[in-house]
Amino acid sequence: MMTPRSYLLAEATWASVRRTHFEVAVLPWGATEAHNTHLPYGTDTVLTAWIAAESARRAWDSGARVVVLPAVRFGVNTGQLDIPLTINMNPSTQAAVLADIVASLAGHGVAKLVICNGHGGNDFRQMLRELQPRYQRPFLCTMNCYRAVDPDAYFLPGDHAGEMETSIMLHVAPALVRPLAEAGAGAAKRFRIRGLREGWAWAPRAWTRVTEDTGVGDPRGATAERGKAYAEAVVERFATFLQELAAADLEDMYETRDEG
Ligand SMILES: [Zn+2]
Repeated sequence: MMTPRSYLLAEATWASVRRTHFEVAVLPWGATEAHNTHLPYGTDTVLTAWIAAESARRAWDSGARVVVLPAVRFGVNTGQLDIPLTINMNPSTQAAVLADIVASLAGHGVAKLVICNGHGGNDFRQMLRELQPRYQRPFLCTMNCYRAVDPDAYFLPGDHAGEMETSIMLHVAPALVRPLAEAGAGAAKRFRIRGLREGWAWAPRAWTRVTEDTGVGDPRGATAERGKAYAEAVVERFATFLQELAAADLEDMYETRDEG
């Protein structure tokens, strides 16, 4: 029999929730989009929910009162709408969803919220700039699952359904990964204009003009071992972050000069 995990709201009961003062809420935010031919549409949500849950478990075990909210499964996919059943949630809709979640948490006295983002098209920073002045609590912050630890030390480059996502999926949800022999090479075309190619100028990409198999990055050398090593490193960092955030005094968030 599975024991409900008190730090996952979707598994918690009112009995446990009403006797716990949750200090930090974690909101995993994924996407529903094609991931080459070997990974499922839910990949970003599976990965971000797993990282959030595993990090929260460790933080909880060391005494931090954190709760992971159910993941939002739709992300910003305006550049992939010509790929069947990619589901887009516009940034303005995300902002409205986020505002309602924050308003609920504020009413319940949850002091801190961190968004755990697992999709490159999502960007919550401007939303937090707009939302935070409306609330004293919760303190709002966001983290990107793939920036906590530099993937370049572990994997070939690529930012969509490449070695990194494939390796982590092989570790956390191997039953959802098709044989890598079925996967496309994830070859991606770069912008002709130099500034866009170098990344100091930016424009959203028209996905089906960039890649034939929806992937960006070659997944075929992915391994569960490297996925595990990377996921462990990310969870280690994020669990520590959650503990620090839970313990933080919101009136005293900045170092004094001599500490820096
Ligand atoms: Zn992805």
